[in-house]
Amino acid sequence: MNGVAGMMRMPIALLFLAFLVLAGPARATMPAHESPQTDTDAEQFVLSNLTFALYHEMGHLLIDRFSLPVLGNEEDGADNIATILLLANGSETGNGLLLQVRQGWLGLAQAPSLSKTGGTELAAFLRPHSPDALRAGRIGCLLVGSHRDMFAHVALEMGLDEGGVARCAGRLGRMVQGWLRLRAAFMNRTSARSGAVPEPEAGTGETIRIVYDQQDAFADIREMMIQDRLLEKAARGVLAGYELERPVTLHAMACGTPNAFYDPSKGEIQVCYELGAQLLDLFPQLHRSRSRQQRISPRRP
Ligand SMILES: [Zn+2]
Repeated sequence: MNGVAGMMRMPIALLFLAFLVLAGPARATMPAHESPQTDTDAEQFVLSNLTFALYHEMGHLLIDRFSLPVLGNEEDGADNIATILLLANGSETGNGLLLQVRQGWLGLAQAPSLSKTGGTELAAFLRPHSPDALRAGRIGCLLVGSHRDMFAHVALEMGLDEGGVARCAGRLGRMVQGWLRLRAAFMNRTSARSGAVPEPEAGTGETIRIVYDQQDAFADIREMMIQDRLLEKAARGVLAGYELERPVTLHAMACGTPNAFYDPSKGEIQVCYELGAQLLDLFPQLHRSRSRQQRISPRRP
């Protein structure tokens, strides 16, 4: 650690603190592996991973709409935007959501046998991105960097020593600083002074349109998403408050593949019901895999 980096640590930490305070109060998050495995856990796993996929696609949209400079892989950039926004958006599920996403990637990376039962198609979604283990490591590092005590169990799992934790905090700080600079330079945050941004309603809005396609084959996934107000919450968490110039549609739909897309020509983000269905199938397998590999003994009610 050189002197300059040492000197930068404090301002960056303060900057991130200010970011979190602006975004809302931090909430304690119980490590997901301490919860009993229930249908609610499975739903939460699916919704968390769908939300992250949505945030990731909205990261692409922000990069596209505001011509944000991306140094390196845009996929990693979209992941980082999604992670920073979820860490800081003050939503009740933000931290827990990221833990679920990390576990999903970790599970896929540690359980190659899953590919026989759905992992193959899911791998198609992940292919343009960094490997699962790398994505899990990156998100884990940012979680630890955001709150070392709250995510001490993640640091332990990752084998991070004091220096590693400090490097993660530094990485997150630099990322947040970069994001805030980009936001200030490129994005016209129209409602920054008005405080709360209203959550858009499903249907046709002037700027943000939200659609959950009727689809009998995926009625359960659709209902889960509607009950959670998944698209509405994501629209509020990421898009509301920005001058988008052209309308954006968030579209839950059957696409014929378990994936999520950003279509710049249509101004549309598509989250496929198939991705939700596959995540639902995957959850018990990931849990069994984790239990075997980490000797987790979940408490039962
Ligand atoms: Zn992407």
